[in-house]
Amino acid sequence: MPGTSLYSSILGLSSQWHITDAALDSKARCLRLQITTRGGADFCCPVCGGAAKRVGSDKRRWQHDDLLSLCFMISAVIPVASCENCGTNRITAPWERSGSSFRSVE
Ligand SMILES: [Zn+2]
Repeated sequence: MPGTSLYSSILGLSSQWHITDAALDSKARCLRLQITTRGGADFCCPVCGGAAKRVGSDKRRWQHDDLLSLCFMISAVIPVASCENCGTNRITAPWERSGSSFRSVE
């Protein structure tokens, strides 16, 4: 989708992540993004950082109350990975990193 590279940069998305839709609700002053991961993308275990195998996904939503003076909503499908040492865990999305102002709304 053209026009999403600015949002990718703001969120610090690597090539593993893909914005599938971006819609601005100007009345509500809210930007809504749909994000998923690319089909064959590899992810590391979110606990130990070792090799992990994708075994499923988890759909979640996050909100930032004031980004560029807008409400900013993200709906995303996040991979769930299995690690030999740590078991099954959901991958940490780039916008969930420490210090992020996005909060889970589910
Ligand atoms: Zn692990």
